[in-house]
Amino acid sequence: MAVKCPGGLLNPRVAVIGAGMSGLIGARTLAELGCEVTVFEKSRGLGGRAATRRADPALSFDHGAQYFTARDPHFIQHVATWIEQGIVAEWTGRIVRIEGTMAWPKIEQPRRYVGVPGMTAIAQHLAADLHIRRDTRIVRLNRVDEAWQVTDAAGQVYGPFSHVIMSLPSPQATDLLVDHAFAAETRAIPMTPCWAVMAAFERRIEAAWDGAFVHGSPLAWVARNNSKPGRDSSNDCWVLHASPDWSAVHLDDDRDAVKATLLGAFAEITAPSVLSPIHLDAHRWLYSATPLVLDRLALSDGGRGLIVCGDWLAGGRIEGAFHSGVAAANCVLRHIGIPSEKQRPIRKPVRENGS
Ligand SMILES: Cc1cc2nc3c(=O)[nH]c(=O)nc-3n(C[C@H](O)[C@H](O)[C@H](O)COP(=O)(O)OP(=O)(O)OC[C@H]3O[C@@H](n4cnc5c(N)ncnc54)[C@H](O)[C@@H]3O)c2cc1C
Repeated sequence: MAVKCPGGLLNPRVAVIGAGMSGLIGARTLAELGCEVTVFEKSRGLGGRAATRRADPALSFDHGAQYFTARDPHFIQHVATWIEQGIVAEWTGRIVRIEGTMAWPKIEQPRRYVGVPGMTAIAQHLAADLHIRRDTRIVRLNRVDEAWQVTDAAGQVYGPFSHVIMSLPSPQATDLLVDHAFAAETRAIPMTPCWAVMAAFERRIEAAWDGAFVHGSPLAWVARNNSKPGRDSSNDCWVLHASPDWSAVHLDDDRDAVKATLLGAFAEITAPSVLSPIHLDAHRWLYSATPLVLDRLALSDGGRGLIVCGDWLAGGRIEGAFHSGVAAANCVLRHIGIPSEKQRPIRKPVRENGS
């Protein structure tokens, strides 16, 4: 591909900041079309909020995204390919809604999919062959000679890039955008936190379900991680998510206090035996989801080659992140005059809740 790009660059050189679902799908789309793409990720691991934590080989927890659904035909097609490749499988766990001590089967039971053997499998698959700089937190963007340079926390400068795709939760995008006009838009998108507790038990917890939307409790969701396909079942591993409201109020609480409260709430809907786990940990997600419903897909300043994407622009969830990442790649392609895929009507991801 030889095209003239901003900054006098002959070929598109694209920096993608963030290796979550949206960044990786955008990076992969462009790399497959011949663009020179570098992905910058602040963490060691890939996948962002679609994460898997391994305490030891037998104890694993999807402590962020739990599963995903697929409604748009293009995404359904992608998911079918991932299933064929063994990266994704359907999770047929029994999902209920709990109020007090009563559990009801959910009325809506969409197909639920998970990465195999953990949610990060999808990111690892998308990242294959991509040029990724891990442990590299980008702290600044600069415009130099009509191209972009990005600077990491250690002061190292990378570039020039004809395009930058920022694929971050809205508050983190705001920090990087500084005084760019998009900052006013990203600042207006709040994201709620979520405390996640990971607990493992030697014996199987007696519950007639594998996942539950919980009401009237500090908890909003609990799931038996090892009921998902491809997980080790020698121990019973559970993920407990606090509700957004509870998490916001207890954002700065001591980690041990959070573990104790959420385990206590879990005991109330299961059995007192859960109070003696063989492993117990907690993770605080500062930016879990946005309560707003937007369908912008991506923000693009066109002329200067700066694109902002992320799940929060596209209805949230993994499916939203996928659509937003594809839209970001299409913005780059349009900008350099390569016909992008015809815009498809995208069905907004629908959030499951306990109702
Ligand atoms: C607790 C929880 C439960 C969820 N449950 C579900 C669910 O059941 N189903 C579902 O579909 N979705 C769920 N989600 C949402 C889902 O995880 C997200 O929609 C999706 O993973 C977002 O992908 P993304 O690429 O837009 O952002 P992210 O996954 O947040 O990726 C952003 C990446 O950017 C990196 N980054 C941030 N700042 C910088 C920087 N300055 N420099 C370099 N890198 C940086 C981050 O480390 C991260 O890897 C859940 C999320 C959470 C937290």
